[in-house]
Amino acid sequence: MATPKRKTSHARTAQRKAQWLGALSAPSTTKCPHCGEVVVSHRACSSCGFYKGRQVIEVKEKV
Ligand SMILES: [Zn+2]
Repeated sequence: MATPKRKTSHARTAQRKAQWLGALSAPSTTKCPHCGEVVVSHRACSSCGFYKGRQVIEVKEKV
């Protein structure tokens, strides 16, 4: 079985884990162009259901 030629240094392990922790942070957000609500980018708006200028999901009104 193929094995690593060298031991992974503490510095290299720390660099990899720093990247992994960075990916865990909060997703990037933008303002919805339709209603102005803060939404997760590349996702349909949770308050009005719009994405790319058209209605893509039905949104139940909050009572
Ligand atoms: Zn919206």
